[in-house]
Amino acid sequence: MKGILKRVTMSLITFLAISTGVLLKEPATSGEGGRPAPEITGQTWFNADPLRMADLKGTLEQFFKEFFGPKTEIRFAPSFYPFVEPGAVVDVRCFFCSGKGCSVCGPLSGGWLEVLGAGMVHPNVFRAVGYDPRRWTGFAFGGGIERLLMLRHGVPDLRLLFENDIRFLRQF
Ligand SMILES: [Zn+2]
Repeated sequence: MKGILKRVTMSLITFLAISTGVLLKEPATSGEGGRPAPEITGQTWFNADPLRMADLKGTLEQFFKEFFGPKTEIRFAPSFYPFVEPGAVVDVRCFFCSGKGCSVCGPLSGGWLEVLGAGMVHPNVFRAVGYDPRRWTGFAFGGGIERLLMLRHGVPDLRLLFENDIRFLRQF
C-alpha cells in the first residue's frame, strides 16, 4: 500500500493504475500459511465528475465480459475491506453449470463464483496522502490471478500452477 500511495502523491489530476504482483498474506489472518499469492489490483481516482459504484460495476462487468465471454453475468454483495467504503465481493455466474450448482461453484454458492474484492476508495485513504475527500472519488478492486486463470481455462487443481511441468505450461 505504501508504494501505491507514493505513486498517487506524484500523479497528476487523475490516477489510474492496474498492477500485478505477489502478495504475501499474513498466515495468522489469512489462514493460507503465508503462501505468496499473485494478485491483480486496480485503482481509479478522479477529481472531476464524482465516480460512483455504478462506474465500478460497469468497469468490472466490461472486463469480465472480455475475459470470460460476452454472456458473463456478475453481481455485487456487500462486504468489508478496510480501504474502501462501501465494499463488495464480486461474483460471476458459474459458467460451468450456468448457475445450477456444480463441483466448481459448490452446492451452497447458488451458482456464483467469488472472483474479486472491490469498493469505493475510503475517504481516509485520500486524507492519508493529503487529498481532499470532498473533491476526490475513486474505486479499487483486487483478487487472485490464479483463480481467474483457473476459471478461464478450466484448470482443475491449483497445484498444477506451481509444478512447472512444461507439458502443462505449454497449453498457455
Ligand atoms: Zn457451477
